[in-house]
Amino acid sequence: MTEKRIIMFNTNTIDKFQQLDTPFYYYDLGILDKTLTACKTAADKYGFHVHYAMKANFNPKVLDRIQAHGFGADCVSGNEVKAAIEHGFDKKSVVFAGVGKSDKEINLALDADIFCFNAESVQELFIINDLAKAKDKVANIAIRINPNVDAHTHHFITTGLDENKFGINIWQLPDVADALRKCSNLQFLGIHFHIGSQITDMEVYKSLCTRINEMQDWFTDHGFTVKVLNTGGGLGVDYHNPDTNSISDFESYFKVFKDFLAIKPGQEVHFELGRALVAQSAALISRVLYVKNGLKKNFLVLDAGMTELIRPMLYQAYHEIENLSRKSKVQSSKSDQAHDLKYDVVGPICESTDCFRKDVDLPESFRGDLIAIRTAGAYAEVMASGYNLRDKVQSIYSE
Ligand SMILES: *Cc1c(COP(=O)(O)O)cnc(C)c1O
Repeated sequence: MTEKRIIMFNTNTIDKFQQLDTPFYYYDLGILDKTLTACKTAADKYGFHVHYAMKANFNPKVLDRIQAHGFGADCVSGNEVKAAIEHGFDKKSVVFAGVGKSDKEINLALDADIFCFNAESVQELFIINDLAKAKDKVANIAIRINPNVDAHTHHFITTGLDENKFGINIWQLPDVADALRKCSNLQFLGIHFHIGSQITDMEVYKSLCTRINEMQDWFTDHGFTVKVLNTGGGLGVDYHNPDTNSISDFESYFKVFKDFLAIKPGQEVHFELGRALVAQSAALISRVLYVKNGLKKNFLVLDAGMTELIRPMLYQAYHEIENLSRKSKVQSSKSDQAHDLKYDVVGPICESTDCFRKDVDLPESFRGDLIAIRTAGAYAEVMASGYNLRDKVQSIYSE
């Protein structure tokens, strides 16, 4: 079993933070390595291929580590394809999804000879075919099917329902088959799915397996050889317990696919994990600028805001918030919950939604206290913006 309990901050790290300008992203590369090893070991057991979903975090140091652990890359833009190859990912391990691939991006990926395009519409198939023909190339294609499986995650991050923009709906498959037969510069490799993100209920993946089995039967019945089953990503992490449940249960996750997918001889099973590989390895470190005690509310105004971590504001996401400066004192003096206050922890940005969380239980906090917002390794730094002409935030690394 993988070690689950990994503590991110000790007194030395906190002392070091005192010297630094805030805000910054703190990357614990030790946690990253342990997570990558756990995932790779669990996948290798069944010969599964894992592509890292680069959009979760494309910090160069993070990418280098992931590449060094032998992961492939899952890209959703031409620039991600380019960055993957520049970071040493094998071009034959690069997959490229996206509902709106531009001609420029498709051409870039064709020139790079990537492993596979995950095509998201019938029209896209014809466009990739035309562009490949102009280059006298054959493009490998997986059909991204929208399986209408409910991911039971936040509705802002579901992608596999009929009402979502992603993928090709099941009733359009006859048109897909026609297109594939007509397009001589496309090589059909297999089928691709991605039903959403932060999925913690393994039953959801069982339902996905059932749907994948039906879909591969459909293609086989229509005369196609399905070489690749790509199940996408979406495995969740424990945002509530970053220290005691630091690494997602990769073993159970891959076992579901081993047990419930009808894997044919010679078939490859591919995965595209983003969040589960990187989320727990970073925290956003900030300082309290002001404490505002109101009649109904106490506010902690931080020097970090939605410009550094937009997940709470964008999709009501939960992040643990800790006062690092009071942490050791609270622990040593054994002062209990009774001393805790409730604060709305907010950023400095001129938007009312710039709030990390309301009614957060924290020890009494003061100007200058260091605040950690945990589980900020995925969809955090990559979504940073310069809104309000904010400084670009630095990243600090630790082994
Ligand atoms: C974002 C994305 C992923 C990764 O999702 P996570 O929830 O971070 O694992 C995988 N595949 C595709 C096509 C994606 O868009």
